[in-house]
Amino acid sequence: MGAQIGLPRHGRSREELLQEMRALRSSDVNWQDGRVFSLVFPAGGEALQLLKDAYTLYFSENALNPTAFPSLRRMETEVIAMSATLLGSQGQVVGNMTSGGTESILMAVKTARDWARAERPDITAPEMVLPRSAHPAFDKAGHYFGVRAVHTPLTPDFQADVAAIRQAITPNTILLIGSAPSYPQGVVDPIPELAALAQEHGLLCHVDACVGGFMLPFVRRLGYPVPEFDFAVPGVTSLSADLHKYGYAAKGASLILYRDAALRRHQLFAYTDWPGGIYASPTMGGTRPGGAIAAAWAIMNYLGEEGYLKLAGEVMAVTRQIQDGVAAIAGIEVLGRPVMSVMALGSSKVNVYEVGDEMGLRGWHLDRQQFPPSLHLTINPAHVRQTDAFLHDLQAAVRAARRLSPQRLVGSAAVRAANLASRALPAPLVSRLMAGASTRLGGDGLPGRSAPMYGMMGTLPNRGDLRELVLDLVEQFTRPQEEG
Ligand SMILES: *Cc1c(COP(=O)(O)O)cnc(C)c1O
Repeated sequence: MGAQIGLPRHGRSREELLQEMRALRSSDVNWQDGRVFSLVFPAGGEALQLLKDAYTLYFSENALNPTAFPSLRRMETEVIAMSATLLGSQGQVVGNMTSGGTESILMAVKTARDWARAERPDITAPEMVLPRSAHPAFDKAGHYFGVRAVHTPLTPDFQADVAAIRQAITPNTILLIGSAPSYPQGVVDPIPELAALAQEHGLLCHVDACVGGFMLPFVRRLGYPVPEFDFAVPGVTSLSADLHKYGYAAKGASLILYRDAALRRHQLFAYTDWPGGIYASPTMGGTRPGGAIAAAWAIMNYLGEEGYLKLAGEVMAVTRQIQDGVAAIAGIEVLGRPVMSVMALGSSKVNVYEVGDEMGLRGWHLDRQQFPPSLHLTINPAHVRQTDAFLHDLQAAVRAARRLSPQRLVGSAAVRAANLASRALPAPLVSRLMAGASTRLGGDGLPGRSAPMYGMMGTLPNRGDLRELVLDLVEQFTRPQEEG
């Protein structure tokens, strides 16, 4: 149980608070030094300063009411228009800014559901078909809005399997989904085939370009092969693209775009009978931070096409260097054929989770993935200076993962015991065992080592137990922590 905390009786000074927060940050991952491969997309010092200036200039403004702040409305409109043009619009595409990729995806699924209610009233239990690689925000959307998620397997190179998707279409299907690229392996799904399939069946087709929307167009212009993925493809009806990823905007900025206003209409909300007045809002949020809009507008105009091209060029150069370097290290490989700067490293020779832990001990922060086990890389401009150090440490980490240490034996024994137990014991017992194991392994049992826990997660036959275990962890995250 966490400590009970109340408001401090007396307010504290600005200096004291800032000092305490700076000290608190020392245990956070340090993204500035280019050793973190997700979560932050830094475009350099001057860009960062501009984002902060723009954000704080509009720190107090609220985009809830566009008539109160016409300047925000103008900036939002321009951000949407510039992005739509970049993403294949011939002028008909409309959209909205949202707080992030998740909200954009929630809106796409909600719009599809309401479109189907209007256009396909025969459907009472709507379904969407999504490749296994699609972002969990779609599952979240299905969970929130009552649209059943039907998952389809991937091809051996991790792309959406169009034949499998065709088979998964039923009379209840309303929406097909593809990614450009997918988050786990960074491969672009065959969007033209998917969109054609959607057209053939009278379905909507959403392209998740959350991570690729502000990268792929520039990667293509640099001469790298990039398949068609945007509104230039007939049959693509909506698309999500995150400004706060390779758009290099401040966090809290994404876009949901639709092929035309008639489709977007199903997204909008208005309530006219409230005593507080007539209320309307286009997306999930009510109050919306003006700063996120201002910062997005500022960075797009600051970078311009040339700026985005330059950053994309730097990021792709690092990407190629890392891919070449990985190819030269025996025992580890890039999975599939990533199109841009997002990729996964897997291995059939070593436990990649051990490689991840070894990299962690050397100061690198790499996310772990499953099915198959892999380490995730999202290359950003901060990695330019770190490429050689990264490859050097990766080689050492792979070598270390091949050796056995006493600590690792504890871990792998725990994994094996848990796997054996979960096959042999009744489910409730396994749940309890897992709860104990997660505290031990995720907590202070093996500092800096997550391989045992990930090994266990990936192989647990009963995914329901795992879900409860993860939800326990989510609950714990918002509980006050003991001092220590
Ligand atoms: C990041 C991402 C999302 C979700 O975006 P958030 O901003 O984290 O909510 C969805 N899809 C893909 C492919 C992504 O990379």
